[in-house]
Amino acid sequence: MNLQVKRAYNFNAGPSALPLEVLEKAQQEFIDFRGTGMSVMELSHRSSDYEAVHNQAKDSLKELLSIPEDYEILFLQGGASLQFSMIPMNFLKPEQKAGYILTGSWSEKAFKEAKLFGNPYEAASTKEGNYSRIPQLDELNYNADDAYLHLTSNNTIFGTEWKEFPSVDVPLIGDMSSDILSKPVDVSKFSLIYAGAQKNLGPSGVTVVIVRKDFIEKANKNIPTMLKYSTHADNNSLYNTPPTFGIYMLGEVLNWAKSIGGITEVAKRNEEKAKLLYDVIDESNGFYTGHAEKDSRSFMNVTFRVKGEELEKKFLAEAGQEGFVGVKGHRSVGGCRASIYNAVPYEACKAFSEFMKQFQKVNG
Ligand SMILES: *Cc1c(COP(=O)(O)O)cnc(C)c1O
Repeated sequence: MNLQVKRAYNFNAGPSALPLEVLEKAQQEFIDFRGTGMSVMELSHRSSDYEAVHNQAKDSLKELLSIPEDYEILFLQGGASLQFSMIPMNFLKPEQKAGYILTGSWSEKAFKEAKLFGNPYEAASTKEGNYSRIPQLDELNYNADDAYLHLTSNNTIFGTEWKEFPSVDVPLIGDMSSDILSKPVDVSKFSLIYAGAQKNLGPSGVTVVIVRKDFIEKANKNIPTMLKYSTHADNNSLYNTPPTFGIYMLGEVLNWAKSIGGITEVAKRNEEKAKLLYDVIDESNGFYTGHAEKDSRSFMNVTFRVKGEELEKKFLAEAGQEGFVGVKGHRSVGGCRASIYNAVPYEACKAFSEFMKQFQKVNG
């Protein structure tokens, strides 16, 4: 067969692009998964066929992110948003404090949930200036006896990203939903990392949690079974039925990342893709302006404005006509946003950068 597959230039913020190779493999295996005569979705989650999928996904993540032995990898449900509540429910006692570094809407939401359980406070905030930057390390204020310090590694909506994580003497927690697996990360700096899968890891429905074993032991005991990290850690994330198809897809996305050369190659590609778009912005003489300050720029979500409201509308309309999907910015920032996660090919970024240049030529 020689079917030319139509693939959109998908710049959606999440759920977002998946590697074509992964979709094709899933399609091949869809009805008869590896000789079982069933789809992955039809396998018992207690079967050895499924267990192999489950454990392989864990092993691949461990390998790709060099996760140390003293960490658990959990596959949960409820999205990153449920982690906003589960974290303080498990780790924040009513009389305790926890610092939240506010760098955007997602950290604000996490902060809000923590207020239900204890005494969270702003360890830093870049709200002034509409979250256009990541705070400097010396702007952080936190206390050594806090329950933890929380940050958002990539701010999906505002297009900013941490370039270096603080080394702190309190348990550090990171929401890495929109940049996990995009570059190497020193997991050992964190007590807990969490990420909804639907940006860089797979389809929606799975949330990855990477948590230090000794941190789990410190958790509060009187909370519902399903909301305790220990329940999932003690049962290899098989206490109840996990989202089996999503975990299978996650495993295949990880296999794809390994096949192209692992995390170093993934990071290299992401840097090249981001450079294409930021170069156009920087060389546009103010026709395009980036939302993020240069040293805080995200390699995953490129946020920018077009000079003049009318032109911006025209830009978005023409981008749509040219087949660039998902380029309208989030309502809280306005403007434009190209989300260029791992699975967005270089060619898509190249085509969009050419479109931007051409649009300026005609309208600038
Ligand atoms: C998308 C996103 C979330 C929300 O994820 P859900 O899985 O929809 O709950 C949280 N944090 C960040 C940084 C995100 O990008």
